[in-house]
Amino acid sequence: MRGLVFGFAGRATSVSSEAALDAGVFDNRFAFPYRQDRATNPSRPVDARPSSPPPSPVHRAMHRAERPLDWLVVGGGIHGTHLTRVLLEAGVRRSRIRVVDPEPELLAVWTEHTTRTGMRYLRSPGVHHLGLDPFDLFRFAGRRRARRRDLFKGQRRRPLLSLFQDHARHVIGESGLQELHLRARVTGMDPSGPGGFRVETDRGGLHARRVLLCVGGGGAPSDPSWVESARSQGAPITHLFGPDLPWEDLLEQARRTGLPVAVVGGGISAGQFALRVIHDGGTAALLLRHELRVESLDADPGWLGPKNLKSFHAETDPATRRHLVQSARHRGSMPPEVAGAVRACAEAGGLDLRCNTNPVGCHRTTTSCGGDRWELILRTEGDEERTVPVSSVVLATGIGHATDTYADSGFPGGLWLQRLAREREFPTAPCGFPVPDSALQWIEGLHVSGALAELEVGPVAKNIVGARMAARRIDAVARSLS
Ligand SMILES: Cc1cc2nc3c(=O)[nH]c(=O)nc-3n(C[C@H](O)[C@H](O)[C@H](O)COP(=O)(O)OP(=O)(O)OC[C@H]3O[C@@H](n4cnc5c(N)ncnc54)[C@H](O)[C@@H]3O)c2cc1C
Repeated sequence: MRGLVFGFAGRATSVSSEAALDAGVFDNRFAFPYRQDRATNPSRPVDARPSSPPPSPVHRAMHRAERPLDWLVVGGGIHGTHLTRVLLEAGVRRSRIRVVDPEPELLAVWTEHTTRTGMRYLRSPGVHHLGLDPFDLFRFAGRRRARRRDLFKGQRRRPLLSLFQDHARHVIGESGLQELHLRARVTGMDPSGPGGFRVETDRGGLHARRVLLCVGGGGAPSDPSWVESARSQGAPITHLFGPDLPWEDLLEQARRTGLPVAVVGGGISAGQFALRVIHDGGTAALLLRHELRVESLDADPGWLGPKNLKSFHAETDPATRRHLVQSARHRGSMPPEVAGAVRACAEAGGLDLRCNTNPVGCHRTTTSCGGDRWELILRTEGDEERTVPVSSVVLATGIGHATDTYADSGFPGGLWLQRLAREREFPTAPCGFPVPDSALQWIEGLHVSGALAELEVGPVAKNIVGARMAARRIDAVARSLS
């Protein structure tokens, strides 16, 4: 992992996605009533990244495709990739389906974020992956298992991240999913086009009979309130899932000064990242607002089946469903082995672990030797203030979540979607999220998965298993149409 400089900029466009663009599916002629209004779109990681590359002469020369696609999958992350595989299996023809995503490769956001944390194992079990059969990943691991005993961990047989990634690449390669990828960002949509949807992207228009939105959770990295003023004074503060994480610089700074990287947050990513800093030769301070909370999974396994979902589906009030989703997720928790490693590191003196403490500011001070350094101001339980000298601060405080409104943190997929839903009066909960039917259909022909399907799939909708749960319903739709 050492030597990685993070950031989404500068990736080469994949040859296969360029080839896919050549397929002539873009239409640059039509105008859209629902466009992304940049002025109303706050900066957030997905929008902060460079937009898709400018159209090449080949793209400009593209002519309008006469027939709409049968399916357009928007978003090539965990959900979009798995569901595209499922749609092909359900009989959708390769020439009639595309995945549109501005990243150069499928799964780019997932790969970037998991790499940043330094996680070794997934939190979820080995039956949650991108393949079709639940036991695919164990079969894929087959021969390697004889050589390596560390491919799966614990009772739930959680897979090694590198194994999960190899398998994901295998699924993508085997089904030629990369060739279906169009590198573009969706910026608007007209659901009332002849024969289905007219979809606007930053590289031209697309026509599709059905659209499947797999655009992730949206939202902005949630920065605590003191961060803005500290940053304006030059404090070295970054967000773990922000547009850029200068890993080499912050590690070098920690090594050179002997001061810790302060990691703010109480969840699994905060714990993993602090361990990564220490593993790579830096020192770290882990600052939590509460005690370490230990939970194996993001939510109780009862949410994977009828045990909890029966009463969830019996609930007809979307606001109550939102409340159930929020209270079911174990936010700010770590699985036992991450919490164990954090405690062990703290006991061995490598990690400065501070629970029940709240950073409230960061300022520059002058040392007795005349140099200057940054200090983080902490408020402890008894309302006392303390300072800790730090080399940098990394916020692992999560991404903005659905509470009352997404107005200030960015809607999944873009604010154009939020506006479209409002203006066309799509069935929407008070939190602004879709109220889809049991086929995960928001309006006729427009399906959702991941965060956008939370009010139907339940608290694990965003997880890998959420993609598998959505797959059963999308598969049934596709088969009923063929
Ligand atoms: C560090 C980390 C570790 C995790 N570990 C686990 C785990 O072990 N097990 C588990 O079950 N879950 C885990 N999760 C949770 C979850 O599985 C992931 O967040 C997963 O990536 C969600 O998949 P997704 O497809 O919904 O979103 P993403 O992976 O974020 O993909 C969304 C895609 O949509 C694209 N997109 C967005 N807007 C547009 C647009 N307007 N036009 C075109 N494309 C667009 C984006 O570019 C992106 O590629 C983890 C999450 C994180 C961050």
